[in-house]
Amino acid sequence: MRINDNFEKLPESYLFSEVAKKLAAYKSEYPEADVIRMDIGDVTLPIVPCVIDAMHRAVDDMAQSSTFHGYGPEQGYESLREAIAVVDYRKRGIDIDADDIFISDGAKCDLGNLGDIYSTDSIVALADPGYPVYVDTTVMSGRAGELLPDGHWSKIVYLDCNAENGFKPAVPDTHVDVIILCSPSNPTGAVMTREELEKWVAYALREKALIIFDSAYEAFVRNPELPRSIYEIRDADKVAIEVRSFSKTAGFTGLRCGYTVVPKALCGTDAEGREVSLRKLWNRRQSTKFNGASYIVQRGAEALYTSEGREAVRINIDYYLENARTIRACMQDAGFTVFGGDESPYIWVKGKNGESSWELFRTMLEKYNISCTPGVGFGSEGEGYIRLTGFNSRENTLRAMERIK
Ligand code: PLP
Repeated sequence: MRINDNFEKLPESYLFSEVAKKLAAYKSEYPEADVIRMDIGDVTLPIVPCVIDAMHRAVDDMAQSSTFHGYGPEQGYESLREAIAVVDYRKRGIDIDADDIFISDGAKCDLGNLGDIYSTDSIVALADPGYPVYVDTTVMSGRAGELLPDGHWSKIVYLDCNAENGFKPAVPDTHVDVIILCSPSNPTGAVMTREELEKWVAYALREKALIIFDSAYEAFVRNPELPRSIYEIRDADKVAIEVRSFSKTAGFTGLRCGYTVVPKALCGTDAEGREVSLRKLWNRRQSTKFNGASYIVQRGAEALYTSEGREAVRINIDYYLENARTIRACMQDAGFTVFGGDESPYIWVKGKNGESSWELFRTMLEKYNISCTPGVGFGSEGEGYIRLTGFNSRENTLRAMERIK
């Protein structure tokens, strides 16, 4: 049996495990050190009460033959899909049908699995820096080519994001087949404007390209001028798949639930040049390789769409946003150049003296006992930056910022 050689091309260590290893080594050397985690990309607030109640009721359903649920629909329960279509889209003036929504066990799986439905020789474009899953899954699928000495992959088109362009990916002047966009961005916290997204939709229409729009952090956008969905842009339903998650919006990182929208109008072409519905392919893929998210968790997710659920979640996100704003202001006062942290839980900080990301990581850890994520781990354009997050408790956030002051 021959293995998938693409796995051997992947660099040894995944960013977050490298950070964890370095932290563990520091703690074993200095067991007394009170290290505050500002690197965490995980939520810390518990699940809101109405979701817990709904899941308790769903557990009880499983105990009675009259209400027991076995395998559910692969696409997800209709009631949850309908609630999403109404609350997340139609009430915001976006025409998305419950039929075009696929419930998942989280965004990460879908982001990797979507590669099943486009051709293996597709040219993929992605933001640098970006969520590492985009590059690694492109490598695993064999679409990345070879790793070059500069750390880039030969077939990937990198959309450089830097201080000059406000960390927003610009439309390339070459053809690509698939573009992965993330707004608000992990790791930079940059949020794309309507005009910027319009340029991407126009590009995708012109080039017959597919946009995969990762809006895992859409709920952090509070400025009504900024888009939360790519479908706010005219004709985006003809070119874009939107991937969403309840992880960061409602604390479902441990429960696992999200959804992906594949509109009916979205088509690709086959070898004969015929148009084929991507929704049809994704439906086929999901019903073959996925058996749906758990009934209990989907019932919990549905409770997020009640007025009580929406309000409780808004309060939690406000809490993280307040942390992020505190970090942003404090780092700025301390003389750092800072991006993000406004409509996002992520704060993207540049070293003051031209240090590398890992040097800055070490300074933060050794001088302030604060852990952070080195920006270079998200791509070479992230060199010289670190990522801090607003996901810790208010108390720890304030304690960490006192140290910086
Ligand atoms: N997309 C982005 C940009 C993320 O940062 C994350 C998680 O950190 C995910 C997707 C994955 O989310 P999920 O927990 O739904 O798999």
